[in-house]
Amino acid sequence: MFGSSAARYASANVALKVCLFGPSEPTPEEFRSREIFGAHYDEARITRVLDDVPACQVLSKHSIESYKELEKLSGIDFHSPVGCLFMGTKNGAFMLKYVQNAAIHEVPLVDLSNRETFEERFPFLKLNDNECVLFDDNGGGHINPRKFVSAQKKVAQMQGCHIIDSVVCNAELLQDGIHVVRTESNEIIKAKRLLIATGAFANLKKLDVLKPLVLKRCETTAVMLRIPEDEALRLSSMPAVIKRNDETSFGAYILPPVKYPDGKYYMKFGGSFTFESGKELETLEELRKWYISEGDETMPDILVPFMKELIPGLKFTDISRMTCVTCYTPTDLPYIDRVSPTVTIALGGNGKGAKFSDEVGRIAAHLSVTGQWDSELPQNHFRTIFQKTF
Ligand SMILES: Cc1cc2nc3c(=O)[nH]c(=O)nc-3n(C[C@H](O)[C@H](O)[C@H](O)COP(=O)(O)OP(=O)(O)OC[C@H]3O[C@@H](n4cnc5c(N)ncnc54)[C@H](O)[C@@H]3O)c2cc1C
Repeated sequence: MFGSSAARYASANVALKVCLFGPSEPTPEEFRSREIFGAHYDEARITRVLDDVPACQVLSKHSIESYKELEKLSGIDFHSPVGCLFMGTKNGAFMLKYVQNAAIHEVPLVDLSNRETFEERFPFLKLNDNECVLFDDNGGGHINPRKFVSAQKKVAQMQGCHIIDSVVCNAELLQDGIHVVRTESNEIIKAKRLLIATGAFANLKKLDVLKPLVLKRCETTAVMLRIPEDEALRLSSMPAVIKRNDETSFGAYILPPVKYPDGKYYMKFGGSFTFESGKELETLEELRKWYISEGDETMPDILVPFMKELIPGLKFTDISRMTCVTCYTPTDLPYIDRVSPTVTIALGGNGKGAKFSDEVGRIAAHLSVTGQWDSELPQNHFRTIFQKTF
């Protein structure tokens, strides 16, 4: 998501020759034989301005503002601005943090804690007496990450970007300052600048140009409920939901019913909101094994009762699981950094990189091409933390 966005922004400059590397999503038949995967192989990611990390609000706001233009340029619609609801314990730390952060960047919010107003707006959702509700209606809702990447790639290609559907297996810097990039399908490309946006797979292929980063990769399992069509219709005005109970420290993110490529509706959700709690993965083989596994089988037992409580009478016909890997930086922000005069990185979505990936790609492309930092956010907040070598 970061890389395709960066390719679009860099290729808008007619003076540059831009090449985007990356394998397309594996087909179900190819899945088990793949080594490298993306975190965006899905139909819905929550997008919202309000965030528990203030700077993410700025990245998200700019990203959301750019969706319309990207949809128009590409002819691909990927954004569903149904809004994002935050629900949590009244006066609890979870909700207070959001209220404070909204104030920092003047994020407009609607307080829907009044039961009558809430039930009128969302009659199918249950509000408990000890809960309060904030509604982020600033273009929040969800985006289709597959279509988002397709849109970025389509516009990049129209602007002259060369797209190579392969994995980069080596990138080295020659003495004359030129990089030689080799792919698994034997392409060799020479480049003056590299921008690395390989998600959780950073440092796992031997790219000599990038020293080991501090990046925590965690197992993630999302649960999918298959929803009958009449139930999807009943819930058709449902926003994205992020909910947490401070007393139990339990929470989840919930996507409203979304139509998947098999023509069926699914609701996707995950928790327990501390995404970092998933087991850490370290090697390429561990990541590959996790991606092709069935995921954490305990997740439905934990999350389905939570869903039934939030949506009384929820009808579904099937439960399945989806595995993925999320990667975290110690700064809670993506690394957007020029790690050498010719190598820039855009890495670390911290479990919520989809929503602001357009802006991360824009800043990273500009930094790579010009060396200039083009954001009102302080550059040093996005610096890379490298592993210490003793
Ligand atoms: C289950 C789940 C739910 C999520 N929900 C949300 C959400 O609701 N909202 C939100 O904002 N975010 C969400 N996220 C996070 C979001 O999807 C990621 O932050 C985002 O995809 C990160 O983008 P990226 O470009 O860094 O990584 P990716 O999307 O993973 O892309 C990395 C790309 O690099 C390619 N690559 C890797 N190695 C190489 C190589 N050597 N050569 C060439 N290409 C390579 C991969 O093939 C892939 O295409 C969720 C993530 C998961 C797993």
